[in-house]
Amino acid sequence: MQQVLVVEDESAIGDVLKLGLEQEGFSVELAFDGRAGLESFGRRRPDLVLLDILLPKMDGWEVCRRIRATSNVPIIILSAKDAIQDRVKGLDLGSDDYLVKPFSLDELLARVRAVLRRRSESSNAKALTFLDLEVRTENREAVRANFPIVLTTKEFDLLCFFLRHPRQVLSKERILEGVWGRDYVGESNVIEVYVGHLRRKLGEPPLIQTIRNAGYALRADPW
Ligand code: CA
Repeated sequence: MQQVLVVEDESAIGDVLKLGLEQEGFSVELAFDGRAGLESFGRRRPDLVLLDILLPKMDGWEVCRRIRATSNVPIIILSAKDAIQDRVKGLDLGSDDYLVKPFSLDELLARVRAVLRRRSESSNAKALTFLDLEVRTENREAVRANFPIVLTTKEFDLLCFFLRHPRQVLSKERILEGVWGRDYVGESNVIEVYVGHLRRKLGEPPLIQTIRNAGYALRADPW
C-alpha cells in the first residue's frame, strides 16, 4: 500500500484529504506543523508528500528543502499562495507539482496519480548506474565493468537502494526500513551481513564505504 504524508495545519482540510486518499487505497499520515511533518517523513519514508506552505513551527518551503536534501520523494505543494513567484519557488525547491487552494478533491487525486505514475515510469525505464556498475531493474541484472554479478533478491534490493541514493550517508535504520521494511524483525546485524556479501560480489575497487558511527555510502573513495 502506498503511503502519503499530509502536512497541513488546518485539520478540516487534513481530514478531507485523509479520507479521500484512503478511499483511493492510500495509507495516510497527518502532520499538523512543519517540524512534525519532517519528523514523520524521516520515520515513515512515505511514497508521496502533500505539503502546505503556511505552517506553524517550520514553513513548507523549509520542509521541502530539508526533504530534498536527502530524498527525491514526490512532493506536491498545497498553498493558498497563488502568486506566480511562489509557484516558481516551489518548483525550484524541487517539488513535483503545485496546487492552489481551494482545490477539489478530484483534482488533487488526479495530480497525485499523475505524479506517482510519472515517477514509476521514470524509475522503471532507466538503468541505475554508478561508475562502472549498472543495474537493470526490469530484469534484475547487475553488471560491473561488463561482468555479470549474481545476486540474491535481498542483495539486489540493497544494491538498488544504494544506487538510488548515491554518495549519501545512509544510516542502518534507513537502509533497514528502505530494503527490509518498517516491520522487519530479525537479526540486528542483517545490514552488516548483507553489505559484506555485496562488497565481496561487487569486487574491487570497493564502492560501498563504511562511514564510522553513521552508516554506509555508495562512494568511489573512502571518506
Ligand atoms: Ca496552512
